[in-house]
Amino acid sequence: MTTIVAFHAHPDDEVLMTGGTLARASADGHRVVIVVATDGIMGPSEPRRMDELRASAAILGVHRVVHLGYADSGHGPILYPDPPDRTRFARASVDEAASRLAEILREEQASVLLSYDANGGYGHRDHVRVHEVGARAGELAGVRVLEATMPREPLVRVQRLVRLLRIPVRYDPDVVVYSPRSAITHRFDVRRFARQKQAALAVHHSQVSGNGRPATIMRVLVKLPVPLFGILLGREWFVLRG
Ligand SMILES: [Zn+2]
Repeated sequence: MTTIVAFHAHPDDEVLMTGGTLARASADGHRVVIVVATDGIMGPSEPRRMDELRASAAILGVHRVVHLGYADSGHGPILYPDPPDRTRFARASVDEAASRLAEILREEQASVLLSYDANGGYGHRDHVRVHEVGARAGELAGVRVLEATMPREPLVRVQRLVRLLRIPVRYDPDVVVYSPRSAITHRFDVRRFARQKQAALAVHHSQVSGNGRPATIMRVLVKLPVPLFGILLGREWFVLRG
């Protein structure tokens, strides 16, 4: 039995990138801890999204949830000023955040840290910062780091199609995302945990009920028949650092 610490940027990230892996680790008898850098709130802190994260963690069999105390930095051209009560994660000192995370890794005697790949997946500034802080914390605590990602190639094909069809998108379709297949070291089949993963996603009510394209996608995902959800989200990929 070992302890796995999953480091994430925002509540709900734990499900999409690592939910199946965490549920599988817990089912196999390992201790699982989620550390979230931000509470996913842009303004003054409020408990809503952390409550959703704790509900999701309970479904996935996670034993402990820790918030590092930063605010969401937002995804867009403007990095807004900090809210009155805390620093946006994109402005946090990497060393300071990494030493807080390393402290948890030592306290938990963790054997693996899950973090994000060098592109921060699709490039959200908080996700890039998770990569930087996770890498540093792994060094400080002497813990192996597995960086969550997806194979880039199918996504690049979608990007090409978007450009070819001139579909309007909010963000630069040319941005380099995730990791090439050749860099991926671990692929976990988590289709057995599709039901748990979908249920964990569904309790992020604020994200499922919001406006805009991400919320629409979330609503579609939580309503899919479980086997179809498993086909779409039943695999998780990681790059072993170093
Ligand atoms: Zn996120």
